[in-house]
Amino acid sequence: MKVIDRHESSVRGYCRSFPVVFDRAEGCHLHDVDGRRYLDFFAGAGALNYGHNPSELRERLVAYLGRGGVSHSLDLATRAKEELLETLHELILAPRGFEYRVQFPGPTGTNAVEAALKLARKVTGRERVVFFTNAFHGMTLGSLAVTGNRAKRAAAGVALSQTTPVPFDGYGQETHSLDLLETMLADTSSGLDKPAAIILETVQAEGGVNVAGDDWLRNVADIAARHDVLLIVDDIQVGCGRTGPFFSFEPCGVTPDLVCLSKSLSGYGLPFSLVLIRPELDQWAPGEHNGTFRGHNLAFVTATAALERYWSDSELEDAVAAKSRRVRSRLEEIAAGSEGLVSEVRGRGLIQGLVFDPPELAAEASRAAFERGLIIETAGPSDEVLKLLPPLTIPEPELERGLELIAEAVQVACTERAPAELASV
Ligand code: PLP
Repeated sequence: MKVIDRHESSVRGYCRSFPVVFDRAEGCHLHDVDGRRYLDFFAGAGALNYGHNPSELRERLVAYLGRGGVSHSLDLATRAKEELLETLHELILAPRGFEYRVQFPGPTGTNAVEAALKLARKVTGRERVVFFTNAFHGMTLGSLAVTGNRAKRAAAGVALSQTTPVPFDGYGQETHSLDLLETMLADTSSGLDKPAAIILETVQAEGGVNVAGDDWLRNVADIAARHDVLLIVDDIQVGCGRTGPFFSFEPCGVTPDLVCLSKSLSGYGLPFSLVLIRPELDQWAPGEHNGTFRGHNLAFVTATAALERYWSDSELEDAVAAKSRRVRSRLEEIAAGSEGLVSEVRGRGLIQGLVFDPPELAAEASRAAFERGLIIETAGPSDEVLKLLPPLTIPEPELERGLELIAEAVQVACTERAPAELASV
């Protein structure tokens, strides 16, 4: 770590929580330079849904590199891009009845969010965007303006304007937040400028694994449609099967106007993002929004391979449903044995969280897990949630092992490391 500590900016974060130097990875494991193996329940913050270095994707990538396939192409037409577009259409969009056009912005999640916000503003001619409490949409200025976290917003250094936060499903026990939004949209004197768009995550991952109910999501979509406001779903962290189906919004039956995807899209941890656009909204002028790394062909190749490998049938989706039931029941047991220090279990599919009270115990549990060889992160406004994000493809024995390590880590946090007055409860 000496090299990192000496040369890398103080902005670095995760390497402080998991202070070892990693070298190799495969499946659900990372290996450090000293040969120690770690079980990975962090999975690149959702960028590694199919695990590290999935062999079939690697073979396709190596073959493509070996034959001198185009690597960089701006937005020139390439065979790799055509193959991806066709595969996405055939395996994902057409079977679900979706007719989206595909925009390739720059390769990170925040690039997709910026593009969606810009397009919504351009199409509607309006500036304001409504977002939800505890939302996380990225670190560039447009995305930050629709992100809740106060410290991250403050780091912008400029005013983040033309956005309005409203309560997410269940925020502060709020059950009528959408009635209020609808009233404010209808009332020409409410002070809320008519928005271009409403942007949301169906499960707020960074915000603390807050799950929106299907009725609530349908309600948001209805309100947006009634008021001629566009609905943007940011499926960057919980899309690509994280909650089970390819898109997290499938069970609620909503068809968003714009969808942002990234993270596990390339299937190999390669940077890649896209925006799905309802055809009549695709009002970009050629080159009006561009970027040097829109044509990341290596990511096109692995993304195509990932769609073919994991989305040609329902095997992965079914496996996620079964694994998530198992995870949920084990987490409920862990919570039940915590004497109230784990106050809640939240999640959907293979994104699940244990909510700690007091909040610091989540970081203690994460530390105790790491000491035992498990990498697991915290989330939420006070980092109070221990967030499980294992690869979707994790074999059952490794999943069980991870759950046991979590049980041990929670016990350590709740007994040895809880504040004295709580430990004696
Ligand atoms: N949107 C969501 C829901 C995210 O979880 C993230 C990253 O965690 C982003 C956007 C930003 O993606 P990136 O970090 O690739 O810019």
